[in-house]
Amino acid sequence: MALIKPRFEGSPLEAPEAFRKALGVWFSKDGKDFPWRRTSDPYAILVSEMMLQQTRVATVLGKGYYTRFLAEFPDVGALAAADDTRLLKAWEGLGYYRRARMLRDAASAVLDIHRGVFPSGEKELLALPGIGPYTAAALLSFSFGKPSALVDGNVSRVLSRLMDDPATIDSAATIKQHRKWALSLCNSEDPRRHHYAMMELGQTICRPGSPLCEMCPVTRFCKAREPENLPVKKKAPAVTKITEYAIWCRDATGRILLHCESGSRRKGLWKLPLRSAESCSALKMIFDTTYPITRYKVHLKVHEAETEPPANGEEWIAPERLGSLPVAAPFRKALNRLLSDF
Ligand code: SF4
Repeated sequence: MALIKPRFEGSPLEAPEAFRKALGVWFSKDGKDFPWRRTSDPYAILVSEMMLQQTRVATVLGKGYYTRFLAEFPDVGALAAADDTRLLKAWEGLGYYRRARMLRDAASAVLDIHRGVFPSGEKELLALPGIGPYTAAALLSFSFGKPSALVDGNVSRVLSRLMDDPATIDSAATIKQHRKWALSLCNSEDPRRHHYAMMELGQTICRPGSPLCEMCPVTRFCKAREPENLPVKKKAPAVTKITEYAIWCRDATGRILLHCESGSRRKGLWKLPLRSAESCSALKMIFDTTYPITRYKVHLKVHEAETEPPANGEEWIAPERLGSLPVAAPFRKALNRLLSDF
């Protein structure tokens, strides 16, 4: 059933001042206060943006990741000097560990190329490792107070609806169009506050699925006739189910056999050693859990195994060392449970 939406009076592009004012008044009253909204330090802003790219605010903030990371690595120099173990340990639980490495690479580049001072130009920001158009736009506005074409998933949804745009949201042409609209609507006097307001409108009012149009501060500028059907998205790739077979193996002194990943994406992360389905078929399964990763749903099954010599990349680890090692979240869950049970 279509939502009952208040009357459209005119596009935000036709009356940008009135649009910005309505949005700004609402944000002054209802805007949330996050720690990264209280600073203009580009390093702290970059840390928050990288963390929030694939992780919810509740996790980044509620579980203390942002505060702990900045306490451990307070500036680009500290982060650039971090070894893999410290870096991944501080990121443990956030997933998508490539972000942590990119963040460290960006810190090293700021240190080496810009003598530790973040550049304030778009071209220079885009030249830093891991910084794409969105992050560069965020730094331009949030740190340097410059107008920018800031479009994240929330802003893109708001723009699709405001303009009643039927184009597929993730096409290159739509991304370009949305950036153009975002820049036209940006308040050049206070771009930082304007972008925070647009993002928050998408998070709290113009939500995915059913937007709260009756409460929307910019409803009179919104062309959408059936906002619940926007934005149009490409069909998501099908989820593939896979099973991982791991072993729980301890030696006579109680040490646990673990494997340290060496691939490019998860290098330096520890987990229980994986084995083939056949080699685990005769073993007793003592723990299982499921977890999503990209387009996969993984069923992790852990089996109790006899003591065996470490294979390549595997090591005996004393339980007291586990707390200081970075361990992928599903394996941390398995280790915590198995250590209490066995
Ligand atoms: S909540 Fe979204 S769809 Fe509804 S009026 Fe506001 S901008 Fe338009």
